[in-house]
Amino acid sequence: MDVAGNTAPNAREPITSLTRDELAGSLAALGQKPFRAGQVLDWIYRKRVDSFEAMSDLPAALRSTLDARFSLRSIGTVRRLGSNDTTQKFLFRLADGQLIESVLIPASPALYGEASDRRTLCVSTQVGCAYGCKFCASGLNGWSRNLLSGEIVEQVLHAEQVSGEKVNNLVFMGMGEPLANYEQLLRAINNINAPWGLGLGARHVTVSTSGLAPQIRMLADQPLQIRLAISLHGATDEVRTQIMPVNRKYPLATLLDACRYYHARKKQKLTFEYILIDAVNDHEGQARALAAMATDLEAKVNLIPYNTVEGLAWRRPPLATQQAFLGLLRARGVSATLRREKGHDIAAACGQLRRQTLAGTSALLSA
Ligand code: SAH
Ligand code: SF4
Repeated sequence: MDVAGNTAPNAREPITSLTRDELAGSLAALGQKPFRAGQVLDWIYRKRVDSFEAMSDLPAALRSTLDARFSLRSIGTVRRLGSNDTTQKFLFRLADGQLIESVLIPASPALYGEASDRRTLCVSTQVGCAYGCKFCASGLNGWSRNLLSGEIVEQVLHAEQVSGEKVNNLVFMGMGEPLANYEQLLRAINNINAPWGLGLGARHVTVSTSGLAPQIRMLADQPLQIRLAISLHGATDEVRTQIMPVNRKYPLATLLDACRYYHARKKQKLTFEYILIDAVNDHEGQARALAAMATDLEAKVNLIPYNTVEGLAWRRPPLATQQAFLGLLRARGVSATLRREKGHDIAAACGQLRRQTLAGTSALLSA
């Protein structure tokens, strides 16, 4: 691994990490004609072959050169849980043996309304997480390394291959803090968005962040209309700092300034994610402060009843408390939703599978 933690050790570079221009450049350096780049991209993203050997219209020598330099499948499925019509979880092993996970959530009227045909994939951006939010499973073992953009892109390729369906909504809500792996995140989104790549519109891509203010501004300045979700979880500095150490570095005033900038540049609604944790952030004063922030920013609020993490003492509040919190937001004119079904909880679904595997408590996995 290099100093920035960007490289999987002893591994060939994932070919899906490359932009079209970079691939064209590599091929030109190998003495290949310009049309070869289009052929290779077609095999990767349209025909979805899983070996260079299968790229039958390339000269044999080129196929083996590509195979020596690049990998086409740098992540492998270790476990897949769930059936095709419910939430599916994927546990992947990276080239250096590390584990990450993705979660595929099929169209769900409970989440998205009656007529939705959304298939949402929740992907990871880092192995572990350095931010150490007190309630989260992903950070419990610390941070190991950043994912390469190709390792992010491949999570989508795998999920589509295994499920046989196209992902039409992508959320960066898996393991890791996406904006702490900014460069690889952007590279991945570009390949996911590109017509020669996965062709998924930026409006169908949501980046969730614990609130890295400088990177929020950077994201606002780049041209794609990516959606932004802020993991707020506390509506005053006192409460937020208690559960999210990042709030010391970027307190609410700084974070909200960055959000205002994003909102102004992108002219789109932001989402505030707010986990409800019993007796921590679920009282009326928090609801009032949250309503004021959401109104100021014209943001939507997504209330998520806390999903219990083994080994952590936090609990979700009683349903009546959850509903009272929601009611208070709505009474103040805020557009807010409350997620109910545990199995459909995108955010909470991520981070926990890997942890169970690492801890060896594999009851879930042996099913
Ligand atoms: N690091 C980014 C994205 C990954 S976390 C972020 O923090 O936004 C994705 C979401 O899952 C975040 O809103 C996070 O706070 C939430 N989350 C983490 N643990 C959870 C739990 N046990 N129950 C419910 N939501 C949880
Ligand atoms: Fe990291 Fe997000 Fe979990 Fe915080 S909530 S520890 S930022 S993954």
